[in-house]
Amino acid sequence: MACEICHGSRWKSVIVDGVERLARCDCWRQELIATALRDARIPPQYAHAELSTFEERGSNLKREAYRAAVTFADAFPVVDKGILFYGGHGVGKTHLAIGILKTVITQRGARGFFFETRDLLRLVRDSYNNKSEEREMDVLAPVLNADLLVLDDLGAEKTSEWVQETLGLVINTRYNAKRATIITTNLDDDLPNTDPSSFICQVGARTRSRLKEMCEWVKMSGVDVREVPFDAPPEKHATWEKNSPASPKNLPGTPKPKGMARARLRDSGKQYELNWSGGKAGNK
Ligand SMILES: [Zn+2]
Repeated sequence: MACEICHGSRWKSVIVDGVERLARCDCWRQELIATALRDARIPPQYAHAELSTFEERGSNLKREAYRAAVTFADAFPVVDKGILFYGGHGVGKTHLAIGILKTVITQRGARGFFFETRDLLRLVRDSYNNKSEEREMDVLAPVLNADLLVLDDLGAEKTSEWVQETLGLVINTRYNAKRATIITTNLDDDLPNTDPSSFICQVGARTRSRLKEMCEWVKMSGVDVREVPFDAPPEKHATWEKNSPASPKNLPGTPKPKGMARARLRDSGKQYELNWSGGKAGNK
């Protein structure tokens, strides 16, 4: 439907110092924003994710993460650091990242993109294929130059020297150009650096230390909202935290609290065995 003010010309008449002049119509700016949102690569399942629809109830960490997101979006582009949201599945990290992205596009006219890390790496890898129309820099240019980049689910990809180098290039280039980056990850930075699923083993020491400099690290936790509704009674939250395999308490590498079965190697003279109440595995 044509605009009622400009009837589709995208220019409107304004009076400046008593003289009639032409200026861009409001619909021109709205069209630019709509195009920028369409181009931002926001996945359809997050089409309705906004900062205003984020459910911050559930845990203090969620509330603090929400506050960090709103503060960043309000201040953009005058921000010193991006944000790295880390924590378990289903706590709303991606929702917050997309909420920030949409806010800066619609309210600041920023150019921004969402990339799932695995997708980005696949696109770069595909560009090496001779049949591909896109060259490596065609894929990387918008990623490197965007006012805001969301890199979702860092660490879900199988790591390799090439993966670490490619991600290092993206992160380093954006750091040098002082462009903000929002990252979400399930990686655990508290694991020892010998553990293959630790943050440092996945992304490499150099990129990790860069990210420490260029992002505020914001921890998120709480129940997985896909398993327990946020407004369920507190007992349900406690039961989920105790029993669900997706609970941060039950993830591999998470230290078990004292008093629970702790598998511990013990020198029993001739052989090592697991010293826990259930006895040796398969031995009744
Ligand atoms: Zn118009």
